[in-house]
Amino acid sequence: MSKAEITAICNQKGGTAKTTTAVNLGVGLADEGKKVLIVDMDPQASATICLGFPRPDFLEKTVADMMDKVILDEPIASKEGILHHDEGVDLMPSNISLSGMEVSLVNAMSRESVLRQYLDTVKRDYDHILIDCSPSLGMLTVNALAAADNVIVPVQAQYLSAKGLEQLLGTVNKVKKQINPKLKIEGILLTMVDSRTNNSREIANLIRETYGGKLKVYETDIPRSIRAAEMSVEGQSIYKHDPNGKVAEAYRNLTKEVIASAEKRRKHQLSQLR
Ligand code: ADP
Ligand code: MG
Repeated sequence: MSKAEITAICNQKGGTAKTTTAVNLGVGLADEGKKVLIVDMDPQASATICLGFPRPDFLEKTVADMMDKVILDEPIASKEGILHHDEGVDLMPSNISLSGMEVSLVNAMSRESVLRQYLDTVKRDYDHILIDCSPSLGMLTVNALAAADNVIVPVQAQYLSAKGLEQLLGTVNKVKKQINPKLKIEGILLTMVDSRTNNSREIANLIRETYGGKLKVYETDIPRSIRAAEMSVEGQSIYKHDPNGKVAEAYRNLTKEVIASAEKRRKHQLSQLR
């Protein structure tokens, strides 16, 4: 029986390719034989739309309903509300009703761990759970961080904001200290990299220097391509939309990096058990 590694894909800035990364890393992992659940934690529901459900407001059950059940202490049926995409990933969708959750959570008991309690009911069915976060550091994102083992931070290299990154690291550290001691930043992913300007290595080095080598920057960066921008409205991954393109290749490489470091962690944990 597998127990999923839970990864939050998180950056409070909009448009850094969180959703694009959640979808394509998710499908990439499924292509490698992993069981994957993508959890849409953005009321804008981009991941839900991206994965072929263009009218999320008509969905009968979403992550907000699952969180409501946790809050009301109602039972959740096996696979309840989970959708399937034909490229091999499962989806816990969202829609605009999730925006009301910020308010419902205020009066909920253990309000930071509502999502974690939901994921506890499904994580035995998966190898990887990817949480596509909303562009904020509010309660929805705190719930994602409280549930996660690690965080991937997609950063648009051209607009790297040191202050934004500081804020995010501050929130991650606070959650780590107060709620979820095992939480770790898995890595920074440079996205929408323009090959013509070719400064992504400089930015990667800058991040490494600034954080004293403590933050990993993935070897793979994701190039900018119009084909990736088209993908989001097609209801399919980049591997289907532009299989031989450079973005598909990059997400395949990222998938391999993510699997390799998950393997490394697993081996380390096993060696500590001995
Ligand atoms: P976020 O979830 O962080 O807001 P998205 O994944 O929705 O970011 O991406 C923001 C926009 O950039 C979308 O329109 C998306 O299609 C586009 N995009 C994402 N990755 C790329 C890429 N590699 N090249 C070009 N456009 C991209
Ligand atoms: Mg998004």
